[in-house]
Amino acid sequence: MNTQSIGQNLLDTANRLRDRELLFHGNHANLSVRSGERMLMTRGGDVAQLRADDLDWVGLDGSGQEAFQPTFREVIEMHAKVYSQRRDFGGIIHCHPAHLTAFAIAQQPLPAVYEPLLRLGIHEEVPVVAWAPRGSQESVEGILRAFVNPAISAVLLSNHGVLVAGADLGEALARLTALEEAAELVLHARALGGAKPLPKAAYEEVVGRQHQFQMTS
Ligand SMILES: [Zn+2]
Repeated sequence: MNTQSIGQNLLDTANRLRDRELLFHGNHANLSVRSGERMLMTRGGDVAQLRADDLDWVGLDGSGQEAFQPTFREVIEMHAKVYSQRRDFGGIIHCHPAHLTAFAIAQQPLPAVYEPLLRLGIHEEVPVVAWAPRGSQESVEGILRAFVNPAISAVLLSNHGVLVAGADLGEALARLTALEEAAELVLHARALGGAKPLPKAAYEEVVGRQHQFQMTS
């Protein structure tokens, strides 16, 4: 993908966040795409009407961050360190969707009880990272500790929001969408006695069927 199409992909993803109502009232989010040792990222907080000149490239080592407001540089570090640790990630979205953020402020992990999550590689509960000021070393270290587990691609940030990653932004968006659906459904299920767990072998069965389908299609 060339530089221009990477930028367009990021803008399209931000529009989908808005259209799918994955942004809360303030439209706050930050998104990035990794390309080699650099990432393209949003430069402000409100992403509802993003334009190409709201994005800038920055190195994973922080080089080029002068283009960003000093208050935003802590967000750069949050994305850059995750990419440096998890080379399988190529896209990251941070935002405050209503239902996932309800779990974050209740400091409750989100159980993986919704089948679409399995198809997106999420088969363990989404962990809660202890609260520390946004972008602080303590907060970033908490996120990195959770991502040591290769099965984890999303974390709830205590009393704040969610951070979701994928091989590219498309996968991060698909995961975020399914997670927000799961959070909403788990809350509804509580009125009916609570969500029930999937069978232990559910993930292997789903992955097996996906593999079978790919082999025959
Ligand atoms: Zn935030």
